[in-house]
Amino acid sequence: MSTSIIDTAAAVSPAPRPGAFGNATHLVCRECRATRPLGPHYACADCFGPLETGYDFPAVTRAEIEAGPKNIWRYQPLLPVPADITESRNMEPGFTRLLRADNLARELGLSRLWVKDDSGNPTHSFKDRVVAIALSAARELGMKVFACPSTGNLANAVAAAGARAGVRTVVLIPENLERPKILTTAVYGGTLVAVRGNYDDVNRLASEIAGEEEGWAFVNVNVRPYYAEGSKTLGFEVAEQLGWRLPRQVVVPVASGSQLTKVDKGFTELVRLGLVEESPYTMFGAQATGCSPVARAFKEGHDAVRPVRPDTIAKSLAIGNPADGPYVLDVARRTGGAVEDVTDDEVRDGIELLARTEGVFAETAGGVTVATLKKLIAGGRLDPDAETVVFNTGDGLKTLDAVADRVGPGSTIDPTYAAFASSVLGRPR
Ligand SMILES: *Cc1c(COP(=O)(O)O)cnc(C)c1O
Ligand SMILES: [Zn+2]
Repeated sequence: MSTSIIDTAAAVSPAPRPGAFGNATHLVCRECRATRPLGPHYACADCFGPLETGYDFPAVTRAEIEAGPKNIWRYQPLLPVPADITESRNMEPGFTRLLRADNLARELGLSRLWVKDDSGNPTHSFKDRVVAIALSAARELGMKVFACPSTGNLANAVAAAGARAGVRTVVLIPENLERPKILTTAVYGGTLVAVRGNYDDVNRLASEIAGEEEGWAFVNVNVRPYYAEGSKTLGFEVAEQLGWRLPRQVVVPVASGSQLTKVDKGFTELVRLGLVEESPYTMFGAQATGCSPVARAFKEGHDAVRPVRPDTIAKSLAIGNPADGPYVLDVARRTGGAVEDVTDDEVRDGIELLARTEGVFAETAGGVTVATLKKLIAGGRLDPDAETVVFNTGDGLKTLDAVADRVGPGSTIDPTYAAFASSVLGRPR
């Protein structure tokens, strides 16, 4: 049986304390709906399908949430974390700004547009959300090492959260990662290993290590059902920041596809709990053409996602074999959306467009979503008259090379007024 990882880990972990996972009650298979007890499991014992977290939600009110801290822990009743989570040494991510983007909307011909700007998280990407939940689960399960395979932002988030929690970290990255992302991981200490290979090679290695090393929590592998729940908080925040209602259209970047499917899960749970009124919404996925296996499957009408070898500047999204790809297809089709892809030049244009119109400097993943938004409008697939939210999930300072050849000083002058007037004001010397 290939469940040895899961079962050995379960054997070494002490039973979790009561309330260790808040209102989460079980794990459930996304394929056959079989259930398993909460534990360090990620695959179904019957069909090997991926597991997700199930809950027995109590009544939760808007007022209770609004009275909580200004970070993801305000949603503790809806997450697999204990009620005393705020007392642990964690990074307190979330409640990032939702910016009204009128300038960009005007330029694109949209009536109402918002940017959910997750570059404001502690390590400047949305990954701080998922890591915070995974770290809580790992701690409650008695796992001693905090690890991950990463396309960059996850490496930052794991290394920083581990440092703050005082837990040993082991981070695996592809050796060709952007230099800023390597440095902003290494600075937190911990073990950083560059692997000769692409992300999919690194991910395979991580699964193998997880099978050998008992009690290691690979955040996006063997504690993935908890990790993934962190992305729901993006959906919760967007709804709360809009005044407790769902947006009509959302554009989300797709790497493994976890984020997009969990934003959908978050919206569904808010409706089920009566925290927002039920209203239709449409979800669009965004990929870079150089790594667009989900967009391709969408366009070809397939249910399965054929793996690709990534070749794009959007390295944070460069997962050639995306675990949640088929579920992204389900959500896009069920909500009347689409999965689209854009070229690296369009990604660079997207970064510049968002920066020039809204003063938000996105990393390449944000360039992908903005460029995809533009392409969806041009193709008539996104309704320009319906309210839209686009996600910026990372910070442009980590991917400076993407725009390094395109922007810079307009001129270099001597320190005299005459030189300034000549160069900038166009006056004759
Ligand atoms: C990891 C990542 C994503 C997407 O994550 P998935 O949940 O794997 O689809 C999006 N944007 C940025 C900047 C990321 O680092
Ligand atoms: Zn199953």
